[in-house]
Amino acid sequence: MRLLCFSLLILMLRSASAGTGYDVRCEDAKCGFTTSIGIGGGRMFEEASGYCTKCAKSVSVTWPRGEKPKAAPVRFWDAITGRVREIFRCKACQEPFVRIAQIEELKHCPKCGKTSLKARRTVMYD
Ligand SMILES: [Zn+2]
Ligand SMILES: [Zn+2]
Repeated sequence: MRLLCFSLLILMLRSASAGTGYDVRCEDAKCGFTTSIGIGGGRMFEEASGYCTKCAKSVSVTWPRGEKPKAAPVRFWDAITGRVREIFRCKACQEPFVRIAQIEELKHCPKCGKTSLKARRTVMYD
């Protein structure tokens, strides 16, 4: 039943400008790291997601779409990706985290450090 609801939800939201939820799993058998992360925000809100190493989980900051985030992010040019990236602060512990703007940026496992993360799209949300 739950699966059915999920499929229905995906169908309903596919056409809208929606965020995407991912289940992320480390493929290293000994590591076993898993997390889920949402990227893109919804129609009404923008969302900056990332991984907080202090809380050891995926965290996000949201703000109304079209407005600026309450705490302006720090922007820097990332030599590894060649793109400008943003640093926000974790709502829970105030530790900085790098915004993951595309799921492809989440390659390294935060637990074992290998490039063994696999993301699976689970749901689109609005
Ligand atoms: Zn934190
Ligand atoms: Zn791992």
